[in-house]
Amino acid sequence: MPDIIWVEARRRLRGELLDKDYDTWIAPLRAARWSADTLALEAPSGFARDWLRQHFLPALERAVTEASGAPATVLLLVNRELSIPARAGALPGHRAAYATNGAPSRYTFDNFVVGESNRVAYGAARAVVAQPGARFNPLFLCGGCGLGKTHLLSAVATGLAHARPLGTVVCLTAENFVNEMIAALAARRMDRFRRKFRGIQTLIVDDIQFLAEKRRSQEEFAHTFNALHESARQIVLASDRAPHDLPGIEEALRDRFASGLLAYVNPPDPALRGALVERKASTLGVGLAPEVASYLAEEWCANVRELEGALTRVEAYATLSGRTIDLALVREALGPSPVARRGPSLQRIVGEVCQHYRLSRDELSGPRRTARLAVPRQLAMYLCRQHTDVPLARIGAELGGRDHSTVVHALTAIERRLEKDATLREDVSMLRARLHA
Ligand code: ADP
Ligand code: MG
Repeated sequence: MPDIIWVEARRRLRGELLDKDYDTWIAPLRAARWSADTLALEAPSGFARDWLRQHFLPALERAVTEASGAPATVLLLVNRELSIPARAGALPGHRAAYATNGAPSRYTFDNFVVGESNRVAYGAARAVVAQPGARFNPLFLCGGCGLGKTHLLSAVATGLAHARPLGTVVCLTAENFVNEMIAALAARRMDRFRRKFRGIQTLIVDDIQFLAEKRRSQEEFAHTFNALHESARQIVLASDRAPHDLPGIEEALRDRFASGLLAYVNPPDPALRGALVERKASTLGVGLAPEVASYLAEEWCANVRELEGALTRVEAYATLSGRTIDLALVREALGPSPVARRGPSLQRIVGEVCQHYRLSRDELSGPRRTARLAVPRQLAMYLCRQHTDVPLARIGAELGGRDHSTVVHALTAIERRLEKDATLREDVSMLRARLHA
């Protein structure tokens, strides 16, 4: 049990934390016990335990709570027998040049599975390694989460850093760029900062959308960009959207981003999904029957990160339960798929609540706070929270522009009321039944 919860919690943390934090602090932990909603985790040293306590305890508890489905506590212990794996940033020689962004070297061109939906991005990334600065400059990769952008950037960094001197290939996230700039400003070392970034051969920046609304950083980035671009140095960028759809970024900078090759990384098409399942399963050393492989390809492959998480859980579940992997085990290990879980929308929930209490939408999201309106409104928030994974702020926005704390208050108010109010409990079960009809 502790292992199953921990595998799932780790998967969530991996998606949430920087790779280097995950690799350094989370990966070495071992799940020791699970009892009464408390997960005991062992860290390799007292120092690691204290660091985790100070920096990651809320994230750990949130991940374990989500993984176990109920509020959970994390207890941190020390077990000196656990060894500390090598840090991503500590790779030898010139490779440290790109490893500084924490991008693990497991991302290569060879283990990138190519299909229709990522062929252009893949080809362009390879072309950049073959002839940096020559053809596609900048190369701008864009696409949704978990589709392989960071993987391709890291493969370019590895490919280029391989034959070049230390420090000439720089690969980092836009967030790191901003942090370095702020540190340089504070230490009055902007000259050094500029020299560093303008003296490199290849600049690779991930998650460029992070520059949104940061005027000073955008300005500095634009200078760096122009200096490098003018002397035909290669620039590679990745973002969750195309340059012209990036909110909060100066138009001139967006134009610069779009001035080279724009390559989309799209969600995998059916053929690529099949190939990904096969490749990822064989990497994990897991054999899959054809019906299991096609179930995973159809229902668990909206993006590649989702598929990797699903396979890891299936493998852990099979190992721990000593069973072979068949469709029944997969369904048990994974629960309802994201496709099946794609529950009702906010609008639909609000609509059902209005209908049930015979209120108009305007009344429900309006400013009046009489009991006739306040309870249904709070209930709508409560149902939105339970039946979607939309953030609280958006739920508040949907119900008349109310803020995050109003939603939090509504959730506790409804929970309290449900304990003593049988009519409300009935309303909830009727509404739930309708939402799932
Ligand atoms: P993004 O940066 O677009 O959010 P990542 O590059 O972090 O996505 O990819 C998420 C995970 O999926 C990584 O482990 C990555 O190796 C894997 N992945 C994504 N696309 C592919 C692919 N085409 N072939 C193999 N692995 C992939
Ligand atoms: Mg990424």
